[in-house]
Amino acid sequence: MTKGRKYYGTGISTGLVCGKIKFLRTEKADKIKASTLESKEKELEHFEKARAQAIREIKELEKRALVTIGEKEAQIFKIHAMLLEDEDYTDAIIGEIKGGSGAAQAIKTACNSYTQMLEALGDEYLSARCADIKDISNHLVRILTGEVSVKQEKEHEPYILIASDLTPSQTVMLDKSNILGFVTFGGTPSSHTAILARAMGIPALVGTGVIERELDGKFALLNAAKDTLIICPSEYEISEFEKERQASNKIAKEHEEYLRSVMNKPAVTRGGHRVMIYANIGSDLEIASALSNGAEGIGLLRSEFLYLSKSNYPTEEELFYAYKDAAIKMQGKRVIIRTLDIGADKQIPYFELPKEENPALGYRAIRICLDRREMFKKQLRAILRASAFGRVAIMLPLVVSLWEITQSKAIIEECKRELSTQGIAFDSKIELGIMIETPASAVMSEELSCEVDFFSVGTNDLSQYTLACDRQNPMVTQICEKNTEPVMRLIKMSADAIHQNGGWIGVCGEMAADLSLTQRFVDMKIDELSVSIPYLLGVRGKVNECK
Ligand code: PEP
Ligand code: MG
Repeated sequence: MTKGRKYYGTGISTGLVCGKIKFLRTEKADKIKASTLESKEKELEHFEKARAQAIREIKELEKRALVTIGEKEAQIFKIHAMLLEDEDYTDAIIGEIKGGSGAAQAIKTACNSYTQMLEALGDEYLSARCADIKDISNHLVRILTGEVSVKQEKEHEPYILIASDLTPSQTVMLDKSNILGFVTFGGTPSSHTAILARAMGIPALVGTGVIERELDGKFALLNAAKDTLIICPSEYEISEFEKERQASNKIAKEHEEYLRSVMNKPAVTRGGHRVMIYANIGSDLEIASALSNGAEGIGLLRSEFLYLSKSNYPTEEELFYAYKDAAIKMQGKRVIIRTLDIGADKQIPYFELPKEENPALGYRAIRICLDRREMFKKQLRAILRASAFGRVAIMLPLVVSLWEITQSKAIIEECKRELSTQGIAFDSKIELGIMIETPASAVMSEELSCEVDFFSVGTNDLSQYTLACDRQNPMVTQICEKNTEPVMRLIKMSADAIHQNGGWIGVCGEMAADLSLTQRFVDMKIDELSVSIPYLLGVRGKVNECK
């Protein structure tokens, strides 16, 4: 019997479904035909009207998302509404219109250059945000061109939806009773669409590459857990699929019940070791989601995102409000703000950093901050001021020597003195920690631990520097993944050192979410594991199973 045609992608939410395929028909921003050009003033007016309408519609989407999928996912539409107000984005469009483009074309051009700029930064989080910018741009273009949105498409039979890429708003507008699952040619597991799909419980597969359009209407099996889509399956494939579906439904139900039952209990191993389960976030907007997934604190606030999204240095006030917001929302739970870590893969044009042969081994993170003292002080003052509103801690990235800590401490003391003189409140006992991201810091951990309250291991960089594997280079990813032992030994060395001196240690790199390592971390008496939001429950459950 002929087998079906098989496609592979990345499953972003588990589940097995079967049904007919339907291709989503939408016009993307890059397919717009230039409409008849009117005067610049008229085009500016069209843009402003479209923007106002888009904001209204997004607020509606947010309300709908609140009812259908919950508060944390509705946050995405808050982000979209904010992006529509973002000056960098709107100024880019206005600039294009003033330069002679029609409103729709101006949106397309601005969207392309903005997303290209973010993608060039090579940061996974920012690349994922590009989907949001494309989404709002397409939304604006749809309004301007009167295009039919996915909302209006009606089907009588449930189907597996296939799209080149599915935007968050399209995902929310999907009539869940009609959609069995979705498959996209592009997309990444960390995109907002992926987060939404998980939350909506829709089995989904991204990054399948090309799927031929003539397969529209054909019967298919989607197994998101196995990353596959089989189109026109054989009878044997169908019966195997059915068996798997029954088994998987049973396991999923039991697992979900178990995870929910442990969510509000502290993560304690069977041997009685308590591990704090913290979240890694890039902005205060993620806090609601972190809390509803049981985060006991923020183990890593990657503060550089506030700088990356701007076209000039953020002011102390801007930084302060963002940090204060995070501190308040966390209601007394610890918020560890990592000071600016730019350079290497995170380049910011207005920093005007010199081009380097080996940027990962070059001018980045604390090295830049200690050189650009006024800029560093602005951030430190903002963190200190926010510490009056919650339990905030400071964490220094990429430390290799005692000197960097003593220098930073001197600057922190200077900021504290200034704030006291000005009568501005701050937590005088604010905790200070460093990231263990270099072999040097692990080897010197005995000395370094005397100077700080805590360590947090950044395994992404620690692996890169220990194994001489560029974290941006997919050709050496395997080497990194297969050789965790040298990194684990450095972590153990650091854990012993900080515990000896009465401090505590967390792990906040990707290895913290690797459940095959959890027992090892427990054996080293790691005090905290900080992971991205989707991994919070799983890590918590795993800690409870540890010896
Ligand atoms: C790390 O290096 O593991 C880390 C958490 O920091 P980042 O990924 O932001 O470099
Ligand atoms: Mg790092």
